[in-house]
Amino acid sequence: MFYINKLKRQNYIVSTLLVVGLLLTIEFTQRIGMNNAYQHMHQQSSQQLSNLVGYIENILTRFDKIPEVLSKDPLLIQVLRSPSDESKVNRLNKLLADLRIMTQASDIYLIDKEGITLAASNWQMPLSFVGMNFAFRPYFQEALQGKLSHYYAIGLISDKRGFYYAYPVIDNNITLGVIAIKISITDIEEQYKETVLNDSFNFLITAPDDVIFISDRPEWRLKTIGDISTMKQGKLIAGERYVDNQISSLNIVRSTSSYFPKKLSSQLLEIKTIEETDQGTAQSTEQVFALKKLMKNANWHVHLWRSTDEIKHQQIMLITVSAIGYLLIMFLVLFTNERLKNARRLKESQQLLENKVQERTADLSATNVKLHEEIAQRQQAQTQMHEMQEELIQSEKLAVIGSMSAGINHEINQPLAALRSYSQNALAYQDRGMTDKVKNNLTLIIGLVDRLSDIVSQFNSFSKKSTGIATPVNVNNSIMAAMSIVKHQAKAEKVTLTNTSSLVPLSILGDGVRFEQVLVNLLSNAIHALSEQTDKQITIAVINANPRVIIEIRDNGPGILADNIDRVFEAFFTTKDNFGLGLGLSISHRIIESMQGQLNVSNHPDGGAVFTINLPVIGISKGSSKENHGN
Ligand code: ADP
Repeated sequence: MFYINKLKRQNYIVSTLLVVGLLLTIEFTQRIGMNNAYQHMHQQSSQQLSNLVGYIENILTRFDKIPEVLSKDPLLIQVLRSPSDESKVNRLNKLLADLRIMTQASDIYLIDKEGITLAASNWQMPLSFVGMNFAFRPYFQEALQGKLSHYYAIGLISDKRGFYYAYPVIDNNITLGVIAIKISITDIEEQYKETVLNDSFNFLITAPDDVIFISDRPEWRLKTIGDISTMKQGKLIAGERYVDNQISSLNIVRSTSSYFPKKLSSQLLEIKTIEETDQGTAQSTEQVFALKKLMKNANWHVHLWRSTDEIKHQQIMLITVSAIGYLLIMFLVLFTNERLKNARRLKESQQLLENKVQERTADLSATNVKLHEEIAQRQQAQTQMHEMQEELIQSEKLAVIGSMSAGINHEINQPLAALRSYSQNALAYQDRGMTDKVKNNLTLIIGLVDRLSDIVSQFNSFSKKSTGIATPVNVNNSIMAAMSIVKHQAKAEKVTLTNTSSLVPLSILGDGVRFEQVLVNLLSNAIHALSEQTDKQITIAVINANPRVIIEIRDNGPGILADNIDRVFEAFFTTKDNFGLGLGLSISHRIIESMQGQLNVSNHPDGGAVFTINLPVIGISKGSSKENHGN
């Protein structure tokens, strides 16, 4: 809970900081960006204003010398001296008309010193200046004083704005009249408008009386940008400069912007316009970036006004770009921070994991050492057990031999007794000199010794320790060997041994001595089980069940008690009170299992026990097997 509250507070702080940062970034960017934009606009406007001033000055100075040069023309003096000379007046009228075309002036005319126009370039026009009195015009009055004069005014007849040049016509130091040239302001406006068509600014020229005399915006013309008081209005009308045009005010006020650089000579203005529409009056406000320059010759102020829409667009762009930029940077910062945090966490968990792995490895190494020790101990124990097992197997063999000792005794004692009597007889025959008989007895003795050594050698090979190495073993040969070992006991016990094995010589893989031991053990047990029987039968059968071989040893004894049948293969299980070790079947079972086989027991339905050995066959043996019936 505490953690969640802390997290919420952290998120709140981060969000607040982000918003404050965003606002500061926008403000900062605007401050710099807008400052630059205004500076740039100022530079651009200054350049354009200089061009405009240059252009107008150039036009005006172009006409400066013309009146003076014209005043020197003798025809002018002649007409002024004799104004009634029609031919001369006509000549001058034509000359002035030609000069007007050449100079692109609006009108050129000659005024006598009373102010009456004697000749004019527009002499043929319906509203010709000829005969008109311009004595009231300041330019005429100034020129009469003997110098070039400039003047701007609205034409009395044409009602068009014009700029006037006037120069005195002097002959022999007597001022006879004035030559005047009027140029059309409209022409200047139109020409300049064409050149600045692509530049998005407006221009206006104001006279010292603050009246806009020239402008590319017709609705601004003849309006004052200054204060218009009744007195001023009266003064303007009295001067007849603007004839009977009402001079109204162009409603402009100073405007401000916190981003506007203070040191700039330009300023922001707002022009308020009231428009008459069908729905009534509508007021619109236009903000302009204003710059002005004084045109010294004419004492005019040339103004350049540029709409601030462009700057406002830039401002919106700046706000958008700075906000996007800021958010992008913040996103990157937060994202990188998050990644770094994740990387740190990952590193920490990796370190943790590494530590755990190291701990586990140390544990494992310790366990491994312990395990190795245990394995070594087990191996030692196993070796000991193996040795003990070998000993046991050997003891069991000897026990089997022991159990057969009665039969063997009989088998050995009989030839020994015969040997004794043959030897005594041989000695007696020797004394009597019956060499033939001696020889005969010695031959019999040799035969008996051979038989004895035969018996002993059979037991010798059985009692010796096995190699434990698996080699191909011929099943029939092993059965024959086992039978020859037990046959003396069988004979003593009057047991009939019958071998019904097939003629096919089959081979198994294993230790031959041990396999033989199993067979001897099973046969010996069967002989023992038949001790109480009258008719004693043991049958050995070999069944070829490719890929396996089944060896059955059946007796017709009492069989195995149902309670004991599951226990006969247990170690130390025996029903033989006096001499049984109870190891024979358990060892035999293990030997057969080690040869990938099984040793089972069952009771035959006709009575007696049946022991079955089941082993894998590895091939058909080369040697042949023969059916053998022993007794
Ligand atoms: P031991 O012969 O020393 O008793 P074994 O392991 O060879 O040990 O035999 C265990 C027991 O199995 C014998 O004591 C006997 O009771 C029983 N047994 C073995 N073979 C036969 C058989 N052919 N008929 C009846 N019982 C048998």
